[in-house]
Order: sequence, then C-alpha cells, then structure tokens
Amino acid sequence: MALKLLLFGRQGAGKGTQSALLAKQYGAPHISTGDMLREAVAEGTEFGSQAQAYLDSGSLLPDEIMMGIITERFAHADVRANGFLLDGFPRTVGQAEALLAITDVDLAVNIEVPREVVLERLSSRRVCKNCNAIYSTAEPPTSPWTCDVCGGEVVQRADDTPEAIGRRLEAYERDTVPAIDLFETRGLLVTIDGLGRPEDVTDRIVAAIDARVSA
Ligand code: AMP
Repeated sequence: MALKLLLFGRQGAGKGTQSALLAKQYGAPHISTGDMLREAVAEGTEFGSQAQAYLDSGSLLPDEIMMGIITERFAHADVRANGFLLDGFPRTVGQAEALLAITDVDLAVNIEVPREVVLERLSSRRVCKNCNAIYSTAEPPTSPWTCDVCGGEVVQRADDTPEAIGRRLEAYERDTVPAIDLFETRGLLVTIDGLGRPEDVTDRIVAAIDARVSA
C-alpha cells in the first residue's frame, strides 16, 4: 500500500523519530527536507553553501526552492511505488498549496508537544552526522558518541542553539500553523498527543492512519 502522510509538529516534537518508526511499519520512504538540506551543506555544493545561512540562523528557505527539491524527490521510483512520509514539509501555506497541486495526501498528523517540553528536548538532542539517527544526552548511543545504527559520529545540531531554536519556533507559529490549519479545513488533519514513550506515540499515529486508510 502506498501511504501519503505528512507529519507536523514543533521542532523536537518527534517527527524524525516517528518517521523512522513509521517507515519501517509502512514501507513508505521518510523524506525529511531538513536532512536533505543538511546533506547538501555537508557535501559542500554551491546550493549547500547558500542553504547553510538559512539553516544556521533558523530561517525558512524560499518556497520555490523547497518545491524544486520536493518535485525532484517525488520523481524517484520509491515515492511513486510506496508514497511518502513527509517530515518538515510543507512549512508554509504556499508550500502546502503547491504540494496539493501535485499530489493527494492520505493524512496529515500533527504531533502535539508543548513548547516548554520541546525546549528541553532540543537542548539535549544529539543526532548522527551520517544517518540522522536521533539520540539525547539522557539516552546516548551504547558507546558515546558513536551511532548504534551506522557507527557515525553523534553530535549536537548546529541549529539546536537557544537563538536558532527561538527563531525556528517563531517561524513555526507564524508560517507553519496556518499551513496545518489548511489541512484541518480540508478534513485531512489528526492531532496526536506527542508526550510519552516514542513507541506509544507511534501506536497512536498507527491507530489514526489505520482508521483513516481503512475507512
Ligand atoms: P528541520 O530539520 O526540519 O528542523 O529543518 C532544519 C532547517 O532546514 C529549518 O530550520 C529551515 O532552515 C530548513 N528547512 C527544512 N525544511 C524546510 C521547508 N519545508 N521550508 C523552508 N525551510 C526548510
């Protein structure tokens, strides 16, 4: 079954963690625009060096650039065969409208975690530079700080600093909440409690997907 799912939620709500767990369950590719941009930065391409300034400051890249990235990614065979789990896209009303012009969507899941909780999660978050697996200072990899999945180096993200976190959460309220509202208006949104163990959050999301897709 090809599943076409969007994951919304504040930075640190668990979109990346949940996408990885859901990708295993449904076989749809996890597409994180943030991960794709960080890869471009790491590769040192010309585009990567332009993107870096946005990422470091916590500002959103222009909609046209993001649409170019998504359109290109959607042309790959895995998306055509298995759908997508979109994490971090769309982030604005413009992106949401442009997305709906090129594809339908089964469900948009809003992972709700209060601001105070994400602030704490973001300051302790650590990620694998190589495969993007997510850890925290409270739950480090078995051998600190080497990734359990791929052996890569586990580090703090450059934009998980108090200043960039503030700017990213501001952009979320200003630009992304109206995009979430658009999916609500279209009857495509379900809001899930994002507190508790990751597996419990996954169970809630799976129940919402199964209710929708088998309905
Ligand atoms: P994330 O890993 O989803 O938190 O994204 C990290 C950064 O990448 C964001 O703070 C933005 O600078 C940029 N970014 C990721 N996705 C988008 C998007 N859909 N639109 C604009 N900028 C984005």
